[in-house]
Amino acid sequence: MLAEISKNTFLYASQNKALNKAAKKWGLRFGASHVVAGMTIESAIKKVKHLNEKGLVCTLDHLGEFVSSKEEALEATDYNVKTLESIARAGVNSNLSVKMTQLGLDISRDFCVANMRKILDTAKKTNNFVRIDMEDYSHCQITLDILKELRETYDNVGTVIQSYLYRAEQDVKDLNGIPLRLVKGAYKESPDVAYQDKKDIDENYLRIIKEHLLSGSYTAIASHDHNIIAKVKEFAKDQNIPNNQFEFQMLYGFRTDMQLNLVREGYKMRVYVPFGDDWFGYFMRRLAERPQNVAFALKGLFSK
Ligand code: FAD
Repeated sequence: MLAEISKNTFLYASQNKALNKAAKKWGLRFGASHVVAGMTIESAIKKVKHLNEKGLVCTLDHLGEFVSSKEEALEATDYNVKTLESIARAGVNSNLSVKMTQLGLDISRDFCVANMRKILDTAKKTNNFVRIDMEDYSHCQITLDILKELRETYDNVGTVIQSYLYRAEQDVKDLNGIPLRLVKGAYKESPDVAYQDKKDIDENYLRIIKEHLLSGSYTAIASHDHNIIAKVKEFAKDQNIPNNQFEFQMLYGFRTDMQLNLVREGYKMRVYVPFGDDWFGYFMRRLAERPQNVAFALKGLFSK
């Protein structure tokens, strides 16, 4: 009961515009530096280098979402272009993750697509890949439509499917051949569109992972759940799915021992490395997911 209240509070805070705006001025607080790799590209690239040295590959995410002015969206687009250029210049092993609402999806679809094309052109030039993160349900269909449009020109773009959505299995079938990151889902969604029960979400998660792996498509399994990871390893072995057809992904600062163990076992392990001043919504969603994270958040509250 208490857990549910705190979960809802954090999820509500994650989408509160005033709090997100205010937090930009605060700098990383409440222990957010455990899970956010600094405020600048330079600090994030440094962290990526360090992770690469340990055998981990990365995806950088310049934090930001639900942008409502063209100016902000253009700034975010430039920042993403610069991030790709910095990755190439530093020679680090990282691709890029972006959110459509950061690039102006809520302002205009065409404007957002134009911004996305600038990013993908740079990714093409620097031989890199861009993942479109999946946001809340209200942006799901339009994100998939845009992905399909972009795939007509670019082969270096993929997206994310959330297993809590009833539609996930059909979406995975429709996107056969496109590299997908499969996740359980991080937003609060209505029972009209999403499973609410962990058991149902987990079952659907395994179902879509197996489906995408068996189709021969490249699959990223993004989860900190040891049970899911163990089942995926077992399934890949049983079905003779080669290690280079899939990768595991986890968030920066989470289950670092498990990340390194997967590398030692010969699996590709990608760390999602968020950075930037728009850290609040991301951090609140992480607190909502795992109440234990509140402990380090509270420590951070008093240490900074
Ligand atoms: P959970 O269901 O949260 O946990 C299952 C079990 O694993 C727990 O009960 C616990 O036993 C164990 N566990 C989990 N975390 C820990 C921990 N830190 N330490 C110890 N044990 C732990 N969501 C989206 O909606 N859109 C996206 O684009 C998106 N991208 C993502 C990218 C990456 C790389 C990752 C890792 C996640 C992403 N997510 C995204 C978030 C995702 O949807 C889930 O909300 C989040 O990963 C929590 O689910 P889980 O699978 O990790 O396991």
